[in-house]
Amino acid sequence: MASRPMMRQPDRGTRQRLVTAAPAFCALLLVLAFGTPQGPAAWLLIVLVVALTLAAAVARRPGEGHRLRTLGNLVQALLEGDYTARGLVPVRNDGYARLVAGLNALAGRLQDEQRDMQESVQLLAKTLAALDGAVFVFEQDGRLRLVNPAGERLLGQPATRLLGIDLEALGLAPLFDVPPGEILTHTFTGQRGRWQIGHAALRSRSQAGRLLVVQPMERALREEEAQAFRRLLRVLSHEINNSLAPIGSLADTLRRILPADERPLDERRRADMVRGLEVIEQRSVALQRFVGGYARLARLPAPRPAEVVLAPLASRVCGLMDGAPVRLEGDGELRVLADADQLEQVLINLLRNALEAGGGEQVVLRWRADGGNARIEVVDRGPGPPPGDNLFVPFFTTKPGGSGIGLVLSRQIVEAQRGTLVLEPGPDGRGAVATVVLPLPVGQ
Ligand code: ADP
Repeated sequence: MASRPMMRQPDRGTRQRLVTAAPAFCALLLVLAFGTPQGPAAWLLIVLVVALTLAAAVARRPGEGHRLRTLGNLVQALLEGDYTARGLVPVRNDGYARLVAGLNALAGRLQDEQRDMQESVQLLAKTLAALDGAVFVFEQDGRLRLVNPAGERLLGQPATRLLGIDLEALGLAPLFDVPPGEILTHTFTGQRGRWQIGHAALRSRSQAGRLLVVQPMERALREEEAQAFRRLLRVLSHEINNSLAPIGSLADTLRRILPADERPLDERRRADMVRGLEVIEQRSVALQRFVGGYARLARLPAPRPAEVVLAPLASRVCGLMDGAPVRLEGDGELRVLADADQLEQVLINLLRNALEAGGGEQVVLRWRADGGNARIEVVDRGPGPPPGDNLFVPFFTTKPGGSGIGLVLSRQIVEAQRGTLVLEPGPDGRGAVATVVLPLPVGQ
């Protein structure tokens, strides 16, 4: 911001100077109007009068009152936070001139600091806005004073509605009882997950306040768990396959050479042996298939997201359900940003689960835009998800022939595309709703 000279009071000094100079100008005007100056002496006299009058006017110092007003105005401007005001420093280097120069320097320093502070505040605001974690600052009396965009998302309300509300009313008070750094499972306006809680005491303008930081951990922890599972699966698949392959092939060979065996075997023992070898072979083949299925979890290819129109993809998936009762509901134009093949796999898994749970009742596959995301739901009227936290644990299944990888694989696929997948009981307590949220392409 450019500094500006003080212009607050009418410049009384200038007026006085002009009054001082007025007689000389009048004399000059009279001479010019009524007569020609006679001789060089008269001219010299006139010039001398004018010069002396002007010198007197310029030399005349501003009065004490004017100086005090200038200083008062300068100090008042500083007090009001207007650091752009400057006083005119007189040429004469007296105490007053030094005082005005000092106040000007002080205003300049404060102006620089004000600018630095504004820049720091802007930087802080940008940093807070970019944070994944929700940040809340509370006054001493517990009212919310500051919240960042992640905090607005967490509580599902804009800052304008949240500021000034008490931390009890916001439902955040219990979080101050959690030891800082601890990870807890909590539901914020429908977002269930694991969160790391941090809090600290603050002091601003000698007022005590409190800071609360809620960091989402679900995705990071899940990625960590998934990696551990992938490592485990790789080792297990390798070890099991190494044993299964020779067992299977040996059993097959033995069974085939058995009838040609020279040694006599009684019929009953021969039949037992053949039967045993058959079982070994079948089980090893089944185990190989089973391990192969799990290995898919470890080898999920990186998604190749592109714009996908949901309606035709949903119809395709529906066509794979062997005529099962599936109703499609949704905007025919809605697009998502996703890997089409992998999204198809997810919807197949969810529809199969829903149809199996629904026991022949109709299942609804619906989709709609929701803010910057697409919300895809598979709704069934079955018994609802089983109790407990195990749904997305690999290999968890309640079905006799189940593998327990459908849900976990689906969630892994959806999260790799910056989406979420949850399975919840239906809103009326009946059935289940599997919800996939995926980002919309930019501009939709
Ligand atoms: P699987 O279908 O092989 O059991 P999933 O990972 O797909 O493996 O599912 C894990 C478990 O989640 C199921 O065994 C079932 O208990 C539960 N589940 C999944 N979908 C539903 C649903 N729509 N309704 C009720 N329970 C479900």
